[in-house]
Amino acid sequence: MSTCEACREPIIVALLAGKATPFDPTDEPTGDHTITRHPTKGHAIAVKLRPNQKPGARRAGQRLYQLHRRSCTKALSNRRR
Ligand SMILES: [Zn+2]
Repeated sequence: MSTCEACREPIIVALLAGKATPFDPTDEPTGDHTITRHPTKGHAIAVKLRPNQKPGARRAGQRLYQLHRRSCTKALSNRRR
């Protein structure tokens, strides 16, 4: 597992739309991304769910992850709340 350079918390780095993006490693009630492993290359791939897809994913037992920048205590670039 990777570690956030800013806050030193563990993160999962997954490709989101082709870009390496940090996610919290735990399933979160506010999570709106699924993370799967590429079947042959092994890297993690994140997919953002639309709000109306989340209940179905929950019912299917999928874990939902949120962007780490939402919970990062030291994020420099995302202070807008
Ligand atoms: Zn962080």
